[in-house]
Amino acid sequence: MRKILEIPLDEARPDQDAILETQGIPSGKELTEDVKALLERAIDLFLEFSKPKVAISDISIPGFEALYKGEGLNEQDTPLDEIITKADDLALFAVTIGERVSEEIDRLFKANEFALGSMLDSVASAGTDKAADTAESRYFDLLSEKGRITSSKGVLRFSPGYCGWHMSGQEKLFEFLRPEDIGISLLESYLMKPLKSISGVLVAGDKDIFVFDDSYPFCSECRSRSCHKRIRTLLKESRSDKKKGVM
Ligand code: SF4
Repeated sequence: MRKILEIPLDEARPDQDAILETQGIPSGKELTEDVKALLERAIDLFLEFSKPKVAISDISIPGFEALYKGEGLNEQDTPLDEIITKADDLALFAVTIGERVSEEIDRLFKANEFALGSMLDSVASAGTDKAADTAESRYFDLLSEKGRITSSKGVLRFSPGYCGWHMSGQEKLFEFLRPEDIGISLLESYLMKPLKSISGVLVAGDKDIFVFDDSYPFCSECRSRSCHKRIRTLLKESRSDKKKGVM
């Protein structure tokens, strides 16, 4: 199965806390009227210029194991090495909100509108993350339609460049998935164009396969520790949450 889907804008609209976190503003902090106005304007621009799309393609476990080796540059042990052996199903994915948002961010910076440009950059990053959350939900629904997943199980995504999976893994991922069909190309640096894109693997299985110690050597350099939040969210969420797009 290979699917290309448009993601409704309201499903990519990021939460305020997620946007402000990328601006270094802690959750619950009282916002000034100026920041509120900036945030509102940036969200309007995001909704005007974004066109979220996702490409999803099934891949077998042996197929992914071969692809995951990539250019041979991964860390020696990674969470995915273990998790994929216990997974039920896997799919590659790539999601983007399109190029026009990045063009608008560039335009704002060139016009010396740094505050709005920076806020739009934060909204666009948080919106791309939200669109990737939606990709997880869509994959859950596709598996559910085939009777291959139930509410006691979950889907979690992993991306090249994180958790021991080397950025160069993008090369083989792109060969297999062909995200060019949704307007994403791969640069020599392995960054994607549009920049506001996320690619990786969607792993479906029992929720407890995703519980691991963040004690890999590379974890000491990880500032986000995002695995904690993602696993906590997965363990808490239910099928009805997914239907409502609550992540
Ligand atoms: S601590 Fe960071 S690098 Fe380590 S598994 Fe968690 S997210 Fe990945």
